Amino acid sequence: MARYRCHRCGELHQMMFAFHAPTPEQYLRIPESDRAKRAVLSEETCEIDGKNYFLRGLVQIPVKDGPEPFQWGVWVSVGELPYRRALDIWLEEGREKEPAYPGALATELPDYPPTTGLKVMVHTRPVGQRPLLEVAAADHPLAVERRDGVTMTRVREINEFFVHGPIEKPAEPPPAAEPIPPAAPIEPQATKSPLKKSSRGASGRYRRTMGH
Ligand SMILES: [Zn+2]
Repeated sequence: MARYRCHRCGELHQMMFAFHAPTPEQYLRIPESDRAKRAVLSEETCEIDGKNYFLRGLVQIPVKDGPEPFQWGVWVSVGELPYRRALDIWLEEGREKEPAYPGALATELPDYPPTTGLKVMVHTRPVGQRPLLEVAAADHPLAVERRDGVTMTRVREINEFFVHGPIEKPAEPPPAAEPIPPAAPIEPQATKSPLKKSSRGASGRYRRTMGH
């Protein structure tokens, strides 16, 4: 497993090529005490209030000078019909021939302008693989990165964000916008393994893996 020299602390860290949000953003917004009665969450699917439907998917970003693409493991909000259809054909050979269908990102990614609600097209893949998401808003940085790719420098910066949190800006007037949330706790996770509790707290939005 590749390691990199961290530009923040000078230590060697493991380079991760995927970070995964374990739940949709909308799930995190439900008070913890209500989640059991309002939401049904599984490894790959989530239903909230019997009318909001979510699937796991991947935004894959080519890494021009890297060994593999970088992947954001996200959730996508989809309509009830495509959701039911996805469940029906979950184990069906050839399901990747399904036409792409629209959805909206249900994950807030760090270090981008807001990503929750971004319109995407959901591309079904062969059995056992999460769908790939194509970001519709062509000028959003996530769409630009997905289309044009990034370099290992950007992958390292994302990794450093997950280890150390956002870069502290020198004293400036406080921004009018929402502050960037603190770094989410992370932990290595095999894509197929059951979710584990984070070693740095239970409120994290992401886990990291070596890919899918
Ligand atoms: Zn470091």
